[in-house]
Amino acid sequence: MKNLVLFGPPGAGKGTQAAFLKETYGLIHISTGDVFRFNIKNETELGTLAKSFMDKGELVPDQVTIDMLSAEVAKNLDSKGFIFDGFPRNVLQAEALDVLLDSYDTEISAMIALEVDDEVLVERLLKRGETSGRPDDANDTVVRNRIKIYYNETAILKSYYAAKDKYFGVDGVGSVEDITVRLNAVIDSLK
Ligand code: AMP
Repeated sequence: MKNLVLFGPPGAGKGTQAAFLKETYGLIHISTGDVFRFNIKNETELGTLAKSFMDKGELVPDQVTIDMLSAEVAKNLDSKGFIFDGFPRNVLQAEALDVLLDSYDTEISAMIALEVDDEVLVERLLKRGETSGRPDDANDTVVRNRIKIYYNETAILKSYYAAKDKYFGVDGVGSVEDITVRLNAVIDSLK
């Protein structure tokens, strides 16, 4: 299996690029944010819980998120692999993911990070908020809070995967096509 963590701050373009990678490599794309939004839309219990955190730009509690992710993986075990988008967000989640994949005799092949400057991110997210209907994109304070949490809690994952020689940084500024080409080059270079 080829299991990729697509990494980068909110607004880096993970969702856009995941859609191309999924097609090219036949992988299952799991975006934890998308699964939460689906649950909010369908007014499930999980959705109500997640919403109370998401509206403030805070992370949903780890165990809730890990259980949800585990269920999504379990549904797709016959696939060629996964693109994890928006997960893991901290070391506890990364460790839980390792344990989960190990239980299926597989592992993370690489973390590929889209690197984009903060001010470009804020601009992109607020612009997306004008049309996406995502409340957490529409408000400058919430957007900056999400970026702050990324640097405080999530960015440390770079060292987690670098220590295992699994971290690959990709310049996330440029046209969508150019960035796809850069990502494909990294994935094609993996064993
Ligand atoms: P995203 O679509 O990845 O930007 O995620 C939107 C929001 O969903 C985040 O700000 C969090 O509130 C929540 N969320 C998504 N993924 C996770 C995760 N792995 N852990 C905790 N909360 C998450």
